[in-house]
Amino acid sequence: MSKYQVNEKGYYGNFGGAYIPEMLYPNVEELRQQYLSIIEEPEFQAAYNQLLRDYVGRPSPLYLAPRLSERYGANIFLKREDLNHTGAHKINNTIGQILLAERLGKKRIIAETGAGQHGVATATVCALKGLECIVYMGAIDIERQAPNVARMKMMGAKVVAATSGSQTLKDATNEALRDWINNPLDTHYIIGSVVGPHPYPDMVARFQSIISEETKRQLLEKTGTDSPDYVLACVGGGSNAAGMFYHFLDDEQVALIAIEAAGHGVDSGETAATTALGKEGVLHGSRSILMQTADGQVVEPYSISAGLDYPGIGPQHAWLFKSGRGKYVSITDDEAMQAGLRLTQLEGIIPAIESAHALAYLEKMTFKKSDNVVVCLSGRGDKDLDNYMKYFDL
Ligand SMILES: *Cc1c(COP(=O)(O)O)cnc(C)c1O
Repeated sequence: MSKYQVNEKGYYGNFGGAYIPEMLYPNVEELRQQYLSIIEEPEFQAAYNQLLRDYVGRPSPLYLAPRLSERYGANIFLKREDLNHTGAHKINNTIGQILLAERLGKKRIIAETGAGQHGVATATVCALKGLECIVYMGAIDIERQAPNVARMKMMGAKVVAATSGSQTLKDATNEALRDWINNPLDTHYIIGSVVGPHPYPDMVARFQSIISEETKRQLLEKTGTDSPDYVLACVGGGSNAAGMFYHFLDDEQVALIAIEAAGHGVDSGETAATTALGKEGVLHGSRSILMQTADGQVVEPYSISAGLDYPGIGPQHAWLFKSGRGKYVSITDDEAMQAGLRLTQLEGIIPAIESAHALAYLEKMTFKKSDNVVVCLSGRGDKDLDNYMKYFDL
């Protein structure tokens, strides 16, 4: 058993666990008892892999980017999660969880969403399976993210506004939890990242681990080795990074680099650089590292990229950070925007601003000519065009 994977108690080192109200215990316990045996069934695996292939479009290519490679003096490979159906890695997880929900006999799916990306990935698989879908979203986010709200509605989802508190992601999460408590028998709650109470972080990491599984095979074909020197991924809650790292965790010669959003700067007060500023505490049902005030209030995060605008990280990342297995760094809004433009002009690929944070870190590294570097391109930039237009005055 890897020391970087979850133990039988639901912990990564001293992080993880299931800190939930009593009323949620039966729901979470049902999942905990069943998720591994279901995921490991051959019929489940066959259905999951068939949908990843024929519906999502996997395997996603591992692309050796020639002009980026020339710029950095190393072999820079992009793992193209941006080419997946719906434009990012999130669909890998929602496909897995909808099959699990079906297998558990659930008829109703709930989810929470901030920017709407996870809401869209959830509404998509609910349409695919003809299941009822309710997405909780902060009232302010509903206004800010109109195109994603429209996508969810077109796919038949009901989008419910959370009107309490700051009317954003955390309030939507509270509403979703309240719904789940009230509907324990027929409802499955699809969480969108490697966060939440055990078993969610491990379950989501397993569904995203297809990213590193394919990468190993593809790298071996292209270079003769399945161990890259460096692997880079951006971290909001940490699901694309968890999937990109998964099969390299015990291969200690592979350097794992996680890139968080520094926003306007780590010390600006407008940031989402969790490991730089955070302290240990409990958020969304698990013990991890989060940005909080001295008296334990969660600090509002900020990043130009909605997907990285989260005050914590999943418990596995907290452990990879604390144990030193992973290197956790941060990139500002400006650095990320420049990196997004650079990839567009060097390779003709417009990345999601989240993914651009990972690309930006290449500027701060030094390489040997023979180094193999894999960057997880978690999503495409179509959703971010407004932001790019404003920033670059296009
Ligand atoms: C949601 C999102 C992220 C951040 O989520 P993780 O769980 O940290 O992966 C990163 N990139 C894209 C394109 C996203 O949509």
